[in-house]
Amino acid sequence: MSVDLARAEAMLRAACGERLRTEVVLAPFTTFRVGGPSALFLEAASEADLRAVAAAVRATGLPVLVLGRGSNLLVSDRGFPGLALRLGSGFRWVEIDGEEIRAGAGMALPALAGVALQHGLAGLEWAVAVPASLGGAVRMNAGAHGVEIADVLRTAEVFDLIAGERVVLRAEEVGFRYRGSSLPDPGVVVAATVRLRRGDPAQIRARMDEIREWRRRHQPLAEPSCGSVFKNPPNDAAARLIDEAGLKGHAVGGAQVSTKHANFIVTRPGARAEDVAALICEIQERVAERTGVLLPPEVHLVGAFDHLPR
Ligand SMILES: Cc1cc2nc3c(=O)[nH]c(=O)nc-3n(C[C@H](O)[C@H](O)[C@H](O)COP(=O)(O)OP(=O)(O)OC[C@H]3O[C@@H](n4cnc5c(N)ncnc54)[C@H](O)[C@@H]3O)c2cc1C
Repeated sequence: MSVDLARAEAMLRAACGERLRTEVVLAPFTTFRVGGPSALFLEAASEADLRAVAAAVRATGLPVLVLGRGSNLLVSDRGFPGLALRLGSGFRWVEIDGEEIRAGAGMALPALAGVALQHGLAGLEWAVAVPASLGGAVRMNAGAHGVEIADVLRTAEVFDLIAGERVVLRAEEVGFRYRGSSLPDPGVVVAATVRLRRGDPAQIRARMDEIREWRRRHQPLAEPSCGSVFKNPPNDAAARLIDEAGLKGHAVGGAQVSTKHANFIVTRPGARAEDVAALICEIQERVAERTGVLLPPEVHLVGAFDHLPR
């Protein structure tokens, strides 16, 4: 279906009023701090807004970019020709039930790890320094230090933007794989429940401190990035292959392979998303030439690019 953007805008304007914005630059909503405008932008206040979005999607073919905390997104300089949809404060809440935490998908993962610590619950220590939303973490199967969200997730509540309704999926129905899932698309994770285990708060805190310190030492946390750019090949590390190809510090325009961690690309003020895309392609090519390994990107590219990784 071709997209009738004007009709989608009119429908959403009628349902959401001034909360619907147009031509909103997405750079500040991503940790790379680059990228152009989204034609339409909505911070959803409640599920009623998601129902309105679903109606517009069905009626007009409106493309939707669900924005979490933008920590794994590279948005084109030309922007996104659809609706960027963020979850507002109505999706940031937490309920504790014994060893389970049910939370709104807009919750920041480090905040959720903090709640687990406060309640003496172990199992989310790895998440303390992953700058994701809970929804983005479920969609991506975020993980670190040998653990991933799939290991603790019990259910994901997903608003299906085609069906226009919320479905509750058990973890085994989410289709988790390494840094990915098979959730309904377009669909919005609106809440999730994780099952943790009782732990000693002092030990949980010590592990979190250790993880934060490890990241400070090994990752360029003061510079804009998307974390790991490439997925690790089986039994190897993308960072090692990029480093051995002599690419640490290599730059295209305002995008540079971090000198601290070779699987991070950092952006300088004035960098363009196209610089990052060109650098991603160059890394892919040079590592493949040298080793025969094609590194698949972990970062999601949004919108149109001249340089497209394989
Ligand atoms: C400094 C740094 C360190 C990082 N370290 C790690 C790490 O250790 N481990 C790791 O796995 N990742 C890491 N990341 C990457 C990133 O945090 C994860 O990929 C995370 O899961 C992305 O979550 P997000 O909310 O920012 O999603 P976004 O980047 O906003 O979106 C990512 C994808 O998820 C979709 N999405 C977002 N929210 C929802 C939702 N509510 N419902 C449905 N789909 C949604 C988006 O449409 C997009 O396809 C790091 C990033 C940075 C910047």
